[in-house]
Amino acid sequence: MTQQNRLSERLVTLKNKSLPLDPDAAIRAEIGHLVDSYVEEYLSDVDTAPAFIGEDEASNVLESSSSGVPIQTLPGFVEDGMGLAATLSLLKTEVDRPGIATTSPRFFGYIPGGGLYYSAVADLLASVTNKYAGVYFASPGAVRVEDQCLDFLAELVGYGAGYGGYLSSGGSLANFTAVVAARDFYRVEGPKIAQSVIYLTDHAHHCIDKAVHLAGLSTCIVRRIPVDNRYRMRTDLLENQLEEDKNAGLIPFFVVATAGTTNTGSVDPLEAIGQLAARYGAWYHIDGAYGALFALCDEGKEMLKGMEWSDSIVMDPHKTLFLPYGIGALLVKDKNRLLASHAVGADYMQDVIHVEATSPATVSPELTKHFRGLRMWLPLQVVGVAPFRSALAEKMLLARHFHSKLSRVEGFEVGPEPDLSVVTYRFIPKFEDPDLFNERLVQAIHKDGRIFVSSTRLNGVFMLRLAVVCFRSHQTDVDTALQVLDELAHALDNASFSTE
Ligand SMILES: *Cc1c(COP(=O)(O)O)cnc(C)c1O
Repeated sequence: MTQQNRLSERLVTLKNKSLPLDPDAAIRAEIGHLVDSYVEEYLSDVDTAPAFIGEDEASNVLESSSSGVPIQTLPGFVEDGMGLAATLSLLKTEVDRPGIATTSPRFFGYIPGGGLYYSAVADLLASVTNKYAGVYFASPGAVRVEDQCLDFLAELVGYGAGYGGYLSSGGSLANFTAVVAARDFYRVEGPKIAQSVIYLTDHAHHCIDKAVHLAGLSTCIVRRIPVDNRYRMRTDLLENQLEEDKNAGLIPFFVVATAGTTNTGSVDPLEAIGQLAARYGAWYHIDGAYGALFALCDEGKEMLKGMEWSDSIVMDPHKTLFLPYGIGALLVKDKNRLLASHAVGADYMQDVIHVEATSPATVSPELTKHFRGLRMWLPLQVVGVAPFRSALAEKMLLARHFHSKLSRVEGFEVGPEPDLSVVTYRFIPKFEDPDLFNERLVQAIHKDGRIFVSSTRLNGVFMLRLAVVCFRSHQTDVDTALQVLDELAHALDNASFSTE
């Protein structure tokens, strides 16, 4: 055999062995069938499945787990694969079931997620076509899709045409990108870092601290401005602090308002803070990861007045547009400030970067990225904006309903009326220490599994939270939460009473 023949033979063998990477139409039909039944089974259970399954309990719930006991380590990869059916059953028992069910209408912990079906379909399409969403030249259509989503958000905030924006992986990266843009615009570097002041409340999300650290600004001065009794920033105290810092020769650099805190859903006074930031020449950033999208409904718009004062704002479509995880958004009022921090070139990019339109890669830390705009664009095109407005208004009303009902359940103490869709509360037991009791109550709720709520501390006091964000949560689900809380709290209280 000649050398050429041997090479050709080897190439044929390699080609044949690699064919499983590219299933043909008949196999794709089988895959479609398997995945479709999997998805249907999952979704037909979503309304009734537990909102939480602890790892220990997972084995009891899973009829279909062959051994009955969850495996702690997933089986290793093998040379010839296990096939789709076996892989899906592994996914179901080992991945889908244990943990919190963020798709459940009775999941009220942290900030609930979503998982719109239309977005799942968009993800399939985005992956099959694999459009290159980072650069305009590579896919003008994908970049226009992202731009259209950003325009939609910018209009909501009240930014004009000169804004710049970026669909990120989530709120953390979006906040980080804002901090970097502000740092560069104010040239906070060298000895200036330690004279530059950042203003926020204790209720600001911890990703801001992380962003400040990652941006090399750990030695900035950080002022924690106290909050009022509704956990909103005290603007009188912000003003005093700004004045004091200015007089001391420090540089008011970055003022952060939170539009919907993670703890209590409180909205800082956005307009008043914006006016102060402007007066003292600081960059005004709003972290609206959870809350800003409530501006889509009339009730929320009222609460969120003043967003247009900001220099930059973050929103999380994977929270309050109900999209699957992996999409956040940053808008900066002046696009040039984003470009100044992120537009860099390279020789091998010479064909693609020098075009008229802005590419996402020139306004963000990412280059190659998931075509995540499609998962936002597709549902908005297919069902329109109105269903989103209604769902958000419904969540706000449900939180108010929960707040007013629970305040009338014996033994419960509720926090302030919600600004958006988070309610805080606790049970006051007959004898036990309230903090210990409420901690046990959360554990009992998690073990029970019908609903999921999480806890926090407010002024050192252990509090439970209920966050209504999932698009599937309706009045029956909130009423179930009221009933479960009433039932479990009194059962625990009576049990500890009888053992006194
Ligand atoms: C969730 C949240 C974040 C962090 O966003 P991720 O998408 O989780 O990275 C930041 N700020 C607030 C107010 C949030 O609620």
